[in-house]
Amino acid sequence: MSILEVNNLRVYYDTMRGEVKAVDGVSFKLEKGEIFSIVGESGCGKTTTSNTIMRILPPEAVIKSGSITFDGINLLEIPEKEMKKIRWKRIAMVFQNAMNALNPVKNVGSQIVDAITTHLNIPEAEAWRKVKELFELVGLDPSRLKDYPHEFSGGMRQRVFIAMALSCDPEILIADEPTTGLDVIVQRNILNLLRDLRKKLGLSIILITHDLAAVAQVSDKIAIMYAGKIVEYGNIYDIFTRPRHPYTYLLIKSFPKIGSKKERLVTIKGSPPSLINPPKGCRFHPRCPYAIEKCRIEEPPLVNINNKGLVACHLYDQLNLVI
Ligand code: SF4
Repeated sequence: MSILEVNNLRVYYDTMRGEVKAVDGVSFKLEKGEIFSIVGESGCGKTTTSNTIMRILPPEAVIKSGSITFDGINLLEIPEKEMKKIRWKRIAMVFQNAMNALNPVKNVGSQIVDAITTHLNIPEAEAWRKVKELFELVGLDPSRLKDYPHEFSGGMRQRVFIAMALSCDPEILIADEPTTGLDVIVQRNILNLLRDLRKKLGLSIILITHDLAAVAQVSDKIAIMYAGKIVEYGNIYDIFTRPRHPYTYLLIKSFPKIGSKKERLVTIKGSPPSLINPPKGCRFHPRCPYAIEKCRIEEPPLVNINNKGLVACHLYDQLNLVI
């Protein structure tokens, strides 16, 4: 059963240089208890999508179309007063670089207590009890509640932020690049923590990342975004074993496989396009080694492949993209 459904979402930014089409017709479903990952290079619209779900967009953002349905409610239509009952309490978020955003002059326990008492009408003593439980839940020693942020490693500070995001018992957790800036071992521990929290709490998680290795470790379902659009969507196994979009294929081939010593990694030539004037036709065509004339003229529709996922590529059934 879907807990969240995003349908045909379009979010543009008004800038001095023109309209930036950051999210341009994105649709997906998050099932209850699932980890769903949105993957793509920087600037592809991942963070704008998650900030729109939370309704924390900057003033220059304009929601052009679409709906975001959570528990039968279109989050884009309700007044801010109603949204405040959902944001943090039912849908919470761990922001990119959150671990560097803790107040350096306040102990971490007090910072979580502040978050709890801001959103929940409970006495401070009860909030401290809850923080102790949250610390245990995320694998931190409660004896360190009164320590300051500089006394924690990057991975521990990320756990503090995850504890803070869970402080109101949300149903959905959005984690935006939760492992950026951490070493590989700590990254793996944080991702394992997310997987454990899903199991223990029945959480539904949206993981936003550029890191395909992270996705492979924990996700059930994945959407690949490119230049504001979803170009491939499906379950993790199907996409990793049989990608149908050249961008997905090249992303997978650009990451080293564990245990493979001799594999030659590929690079994706060029960089993502400007979203003020994205390329006509397929937005990936200037970088795609398989592009044909049609790709420069006609935008490929997102088509259903035998109920195994969706792909937007004119040649999806002709290319044999072997992993
Ligand atoms: Fe490449 Fe054409 Fe497919 Fe776009 S539609 S990904 S340019 S082959």
